[in-house]
Amino acid sequence: MSFTSLGLSAPILAAIANKGYETPSPIQAQAIPAVLEGKDVMAAAQTGTGKTAAFGLPLLQKTDLESKNVQTIVLCPTRELCMQITGDVEKYSKYVKGFKSVAVYGGADIQAQIRSLKKGCHMVIGTPGRIMDLIRRKALKLANIKWVVLDEADEMLNMGFKDDLDVILAETPDEKQTYLFSATMPKGIANIAKKYME
Ligand code: AMP
Repeated sequence: MSFTSLGLSAPILAAIANKGYETPSPIQAQAIPAVLEGKDVMAAAQTGTGKTAAFGLPLLQKTDLESKNVQTIVLCPTRELCMQITGDVEKYSKYVKGFKSVAVYGGADIQAQIRSLKKGCHMVIGTPGRIMDLIRRKALKLANIKWVVLDEADEMLNMGFKDDLDVILAETPDEKQTYLFSATMPKGIANIAKKYME
């Protein structure tokens, strides 16, 4: 199994080679083709499984770079994870010219985040509370979202973000694709999947 056989494009393969990845991890081998095909994906995945690349690489490839609308929203439980995902996505997008992502999380200057969003970006990676705040301030619009990633979904529920997730998911278009990654699959996760996923 190689990354080439998963259907990834040359700029993305070049970035993976730079990172020194040789073979796709099991979650990457299964999720990357499914995301490229436009399927919803639900995966039991812990940190260290390569889950960031599993959704990040195919979504980078699918992004419409001509449009300046936010197309992907990645929801994750903590500022640390948010920064880690953003750092990885930046490396994966090294040769995807014009691609822009913005990280938004609590405990940091919201005005600076609003200014970044105003410049236009393709992917927003954020914590649910701050994303809600930005929606309320009309700094973030979800009308053109095509892809939603719920990363460490069980942690987001544990941290009390269920209501925020409901509001955010309800604001995204029905025809989006959803990718759910969770280390455990408690009932709350099954409910989210049933309600929002195909
Ligand atoms: P993640 O589960 O996304 O937090 O990734 C865990 C770590 O594995 C990160 O440091 C990645 O850079 C690395 N990684 C992800 N995919 C691969 C791969 N296919 N081969 C080698 N390392 C990888």
